Amino acid sequence: MEQYQTIIIGGGAAGLMAAITYARQKKSSQGLLIIEKNPSIGRKITVTGNRRCNLTNINTTPDKYYGENTKCLYNIFNRFSYKDTITFFENLGVRLKTEEGGRIFPITNQATTILDSLTKEIAQLKIRTKTEEYVIKLIQKNKNWEITTDKNIYQSKHIILSTGGKSYPRLGSSSEGFEFAQHLGHRIIEPKPALVPLELSGNWFHKLQGVQSNVEIIIVTQGKTIATRTGELLFTHYGISGPMILDLSRLIINCLHKENNAVFINFFPDYNTESLKQLLTTLWQKHPQKIFSNSLLGFLTKRLRYVLAHELKVEETTCVNQISKKELYRIAERLTHWIIKIKKTRSFKESMITAGGIAMDEINIKTMESLKAKGLYFAGEILDIDGISGGYNLQFAWSTGYLAGLQL
Ligand SMILES: Cc1cc2nc3c(=O)[nH]c(=O)nc-3n(C[C@H](O)[C@H](O)[C@H](O)COP(=O)(O)OP(=O)(O)OC[C@H]3O[C@@H](n4cnc5c(N)ncnc54)[C@H](O)[C@@H]3O)c2cc1C
Repeated sequence: MEQYQTIIIGGGAAGLMAAITYARQKKSSQGLLIIEKNPSIGRKITVTGNRRCNLTNINTTPDKYYGENTKCLYNIFNRFSYKDTITFFENLGVRLKTEEGGRIFPITNQATTILDSLTKEIAQLKIRTKTEEYVIKLIQKNKNWEITTDKNIYQSKHIILSTGGKSYPRLGSSSEGFEFAQHLGHRIIEPKPALVPLELSGNWFHKLQGVQSNVEIIIVTQGKTIATRTGELLFTHYGISGPMILDLSRLIINCLHKENNAVFINFFPDYNTESLKQLLTTLWQKHPQKIFSNSLLGFLTKRLRYVLAHELKVEETTCVNQISKKELYRIAERLTHWIIKIKKTRSFKESMITAGGIAMDEINIKTMESLKAKGLYFAGEILDIDGISGGYNLQFAWSTGYLAGLQL
């Protein structure tokens, strides 16, 4: 049986940060091992930020996060903030830039730059990694941990469990980490897919697949408005997606057990029903011979005009002077309040982050050590904290990885 001082289970963002922090402060990587299921470490990092890796955000504050206890984030970010992330990567030789909304990216626009910098540091610090090996059992024996993988059995004094959430399973995520923690007495807040597209009721979205439009969105559940946003909407063959929807999805996941969840789309975000009525009246008086869908040319893309005209049951050849005032009012009303029922979110396969996870109140947030099992530490997405999009989730992984690695 191989013996270690500390074994890190999961070589993602949090696990790698923990390993580097550990080896740097001990000035040695003796007795440290990372076990990673994938053929190489940090695979998920390469797909982040549309493969550009939005690694943190200068607006990182606890209000960008969800979870039962987000107050603990004040403490966590006080100890390792977005500024520390910037310094950490700059010290690895990575040049960074700030984009809209305070989002930080490598200047190369390549997520592999971030992964390469981490991989080089891991090698430089001579940190042992075992890849293509996955942990199947974790038990505490006397004062040690026994870790069974598909290939070996190890013993270690400390464990850092950084196996991530359930999102994007093709990159190694699964529910094992939650199962280990639950088995060891931890409370798990039900993991749900978040930062995830929405599936809508109806069978006409496939006609709009790939169409993007600037719209106003109102999310209503049980007759109550829970969010209003304006931004880019991306239509897919099953419903809607895009950064605005991904962020809104987090508000919706807790309402999906209820009936009557709907999205209202205003395709003319600069207008309400009244002002759109006036706009259409003026436009149509000016150009009475125009075909209906062409009359909306300056406002909506071609495919959107045709599909909406079809859904509005306006014939393709109808000229605007053939449309009655009553009909114009109906059209203005629908174009500003296009109601569609929300069926569900897409699955973990398509979600960028997992909401829920190990409850924070059973963890010493100064050290990330379990309050249930001595010598067991947690870091990253496995915890019951998830952020909106914009670099906040990786920041949480770096911060908690740092704290866990520092304590051992
Ligand atoms: C498409 C996509 C884009 C994203 N873009 C961004 C972005 O731009 N900015 C941002 O802040 N966040 C982004 N995120 C979220 C971000 O990737 C996560 O918050 C972050 O990777 C979490 O890090 P982690 O180390 O906790 O978990 P992970 O990165 O998931 O790492 C966990 C590791 O544990 C391994 N593992 C799991 N079980 C076992 C086991 N039993 N034995 C051994 N190993 C195991 C897995 O293979 C994995 O490598 C994105 C996510 C996705 C899916």
